[in-house]
Amino acid sequence: MTARYDQDLVAFVRPLQGTDSHFDFSYGNCLPLISRPFGMTNWSPQTDEGRWLFGYRARKLQGIRATHQPSPWIADYGHFTIMPQIGALLLDAGQRSSLVRRGDMEIGPDYFKALFWRYRTTVELTPTERGAALRFTFPATERARIMFHAFDGAALVRIDPQRRMLSGYTRANNGGVPDSFACYFVAVFSQPIVDHGFFEGASVLEHAPQAESDRQGAYVEFDMRQRPIEVRVATSFISIEQALRTLEQEIGARSFEEIRAETRAQWNDLLNRAQIEGADERQRQTFYTCLYRTLLFPRKWYEYGAAGRPIHYSPYDGTIHPGVLYADNGFWDTFRTVYPLFALLFPDRLSEIVNGWVQAANEGGHFPKWASPGYRNCMIGTHLDVVIADAYVKGVRDFDLESAYAAMHKDAYEKGDPNEGFGRTGLFDYIALGYVPADRVAHAAARTQEFAYNDFCVAQIARALGIEDDAAELTRRALHYRNTYDPAVGFMRGRLRDGSWLIPFDEFAWDRRAYIEGSAWQYSWAAPHDAAGLIALMGGREAFVAKLDRMLATPPYFDAADYDLEIHEMTEMASASFGQYAHSNQLVHHVLYLFTAAGQPWKTHYWVRKVLDELYSPDPNGLPGDEDNGEMSAWYILSALGIFPLCPGHPSYVFGSPLFAKATLHLVNGNTLEIEAPGQSHAAVYVRETLLDGQPYTHTWIAHERLMDGGRLTFAMSETPDEGRALAEDDLPYSLSTAGL
Ligand code: CA
Repeated sequence: MTARYDQDLVAFVRPLQGTDSHFDFSYGNCLPLISRPFGMTNWSPQTDEGRWLFGYRARKLQGIRATHQPSPWIADYGHFTIMPQIGALLLDAGQRSSLVRRGDMEIGPDYFKALFWRYRTTVELTPTERGAALRFTFPATERARIMFHAFDGAALVRIDPQRRMLSGYTRANNGGVPDSFACYFVAVFSQPIVDHGFFEGASVLEHAPQAESDRQGAYVEFDMRQRPIEVRVATSFISIEQALRTLEQEIGARSFEEIRAETRAQWNDLLNRAQIEGADERQRQTFYTCLYRTLLFPRKWYEYGAAGRPIHYSPYDGTIHPGVLYADNGFWDTFRTVYPLFALLFPDRLSEIVNGWVQAANEGGHFPKWASPGYRNCMIGTHLDVVIADAYVKGVRDFDLESAYAAMHKDAYEKGDPNEGFGRTGLFDYIALGYVPADRVAHAAARTQEFAYNDFCVAQIARALGIEDDAAELTRRALHYRNTYDPAVGFMRGRLRDGSWLIPFDEFAWDRRAYIEGSAWQYSWAAPHDAAGLIALMGGREAFVAKLDRMLATPPYFDAADYDLEIHEMTEMASASFGQYAHSNQLVHHVLYLFTAAGQPWKTHYWVRKVLDELYSPDPNGLPGDEDNGEMSAWYILSALGIFPLCPGHPSYVFGSPLFAKATLHLVNGNTLEIEAPGQSHAAVYVRETLLDGQPYTHTWIAHERLMDGGRLTFAMSETPDEGRALAEDDLPYSLSTAGL
């Protein structure tokens, strides 16, 4: 296991990628997270107390924040900010903020260092899974001050000078938690506390607070004849006692440098599973930054109790349970690329994560749709169905399949949450009519397609369990997406209860009655489980390819329709040069690979390489739209490797156009998969021939199992497309054609 970790790949990770974002325009909407892989608590410099808590262009920092925010659209919970200060006591975040020069801020997954100019104080931080070690180097003034500020919810902070300890909790959250929710924290200081105080907002409190209050904080002061000051911090969702236990487990008496070395080793251990050759410096930075982003979410939501075993506070039922749990994932996004990448490179981690999601269903009664940390209402479909099916068909099976199926069965057959925290809104109409009617339920055409795909995935598990009746019925329902296709306009379209179409129809309208975050152009392809059927539905291969060509050639016009403003996804699509192919949002992320399914793989090669080259970089503006818990990044990783999961839930990959001369994947079963494209260049993007272990391989796809066997995939590249290459109609790994059902 040692040889493969010889590369210090952490050095290429650029956490500032995607941070030049704001409400109106997303270059990723990323936070520059300093964190362990899948860390329970992340750390980010803070320029604002709100959802856009780090803005790349802001000059001043308000401190460094313990954060659990998976996306600004979902917002933070259990957060608090730590800030150094000398001189006058300034409490308000805006008043206390200080210039930090971007150029001299050091930031990596394992380490943060910044000079707060106003206070001539250098702050360093290295993360543990649930806390951090910090080091403050103050100027040689008389008093140094460190403040802890909880906000956005009731909090209570205490100080014990004898133990050099600050402790407390915050109830800050944005939903998805029971009333008993709190994030507890403890901080232990290396120097004696010579003075301390408490505050609420910008007002100093005369006495130590006895009760929770909003915007509560505390500060501690130190005599600077002894310096620097080291601070060990741990968090818990269980108790202060548990936070202290975690502090001992994760840091104990170890030095800052030892913690940092362990953090870096953990990252290198995972990043080295994919080693690349022939990439230029910026491609290497982009690749490993994307891999880092894929390895942040979902976050571990468990701690190690007195017996050293995993325990967790349940955001579903508010009690403490044994075992593991994960949180912070929007499955509408992540099912597409994140979980398939886990299945290929990190199946060991995926196994634990899947167990966490099954546990979530056991505690809450249902699979979450968007977990943060419990049930949240965001987007549509029940895509944990895809996650479970994809893991299972790719060999990750050490979880309670029957409990998982029970939750999937509820998704497919039972009434969902009226508040849309779980389940499928419009399910019974969908079952009765074969589509979700637009005069009863919003996003009807989009839901119809996604429910059908979800049904395909639930059917895979029903079949695995030998429940043939369910499998047959769900496989039949998996074709329901067809019922929302109108051949007269050539798009998926809103349909009413009486069978008629929603009128008027405008191909550019982001009409929320029919779609969500898109128009007919983006929301007519969401049947990856039946690529052959979708192609036939749209008039066969020639017509289908012509339609994809038109998608990429049509100007990115949009009509904001019933949105009350031009939402950022519209702005982002229209700012790019890919026509109606809106890579800025996840729903089209499989679409370029449909060219291959329709027999013209060279168009996949051309367009995928163009996206890789033009829409991604390691810079603060280096992503074309919301990153979304690793999804935008995992698309890059898989596409750069030249293998893409066109249909998660099916154990296969479609070939693309490898970006690097060579990639070596170190698989957890001990095998090695080498992907070579020695002739590739910015011009030579077309695959002319594929070899597997030196023998011609004529398919445009490959089975997951075959990749896991290891070996050598070689792509012969060319500057010209091989348009004469005849591809068999049935050269697809699966084909849910009508005949097949
Ligand atoms: Ca998105």
